[in-house]
Amino acid sequence: VNDSNGEAALELVYQLVEKLIKAATSPILGIGIGAPGLMNPEQGIVRKSVSLEWQDLPLRNLLETRYSLPVYIANDSQVAALAEYTFGGSSQKTSSLVVVKIGRGVGAGIVIDGQLHYGDGYGAGEIGHVMVVENGERCLCGHLGCLETVISSRAIISRAKTIAQSNPASSLHNFVDTPEAITTDIVLEAFNTGDTELQEAVAELGRYLAISVANLVGVLSIRHVLIGGSLARFGETLVEPMRQEIRQRVQATQASETCVNIATLGTDIVILGAASLLLNYELGLV
Ligand SMILES: [Zn+2]
Repeated sequence: VNDSNGEAALELVYQLVEKLIKAATSPILGIGIGAPGLMNPEQGIVRKSVSLEWQDLPLRNLLETRYSLPVYIANDSQVAALAEYTFGGSSQKTSSLVVVKIGRGVGAGIVIDGQLHYGDGYGAGEIGHVMVVENGERCLCGHLGCLETVISSRAIISRAKTIAQSNPASSLHNFVDTPEAITTDIVLEAFNTGDTELQEAVAELGRYLAISVANLVGVLSIRHVLIGGSLARFGETLVEPMRQEIRQRVQATQASETCVNIATLGTDIVILGAASLLLNYELGLV
């Protein structure tokens, strides 16, 4: 929601949980959390979240002690995939899908044969810190050219700032007084006015994302790829260049069978995923 990290981000989690507990009108089953980064869902530990600056944070213990409720945590992109699989409205029910969630960071959740695939160490789909730009920009994780340096809310905001600074006629100036005030929502508003520079920037993001997705398609042979998270609001401008690029990178037969679309669940996708995690563990429902 905002740019907090470290202790401040944890404080926000407490505030949010307290607000939700107050607002609840029926007994609370527990707390489900989807958080970015490498998780250990068994121990309830955030092993490493680059964007939140959390390392080895025992989030489940902290919350269980504070609120005396059962707590389940998992990676946000992984629970997004679970949500789309469980509640999503994709026209044909499919047993396997990938959800790529793009917000502050980027990650993928992978459902194979109806099961969320966690991988060894629970890091399956952690594509955000895999390099896509040779000698690219320095990432928060310390490496160069990670996918997250070119596709994340931080990346699009930084790109928009550069556009605003270099082009006095940019439509961004209609929404903010200074480039420093640009947020993802501002970029989206300017984008929606038909700003061609921003549209080209978004298309370029799509082409970078296609590098990672093409590799996932090649490795997993999964046909349904859905894009979720706050940057999914760029819609077809993001997705159509991805489809074109994937056709260049995946062999024709496989590429023609690959469907890339915007996720059917909106910005609540992680919340729904965290809820299905809870229902699954507590009631065995999902
Ligand atoms: Zn990185």
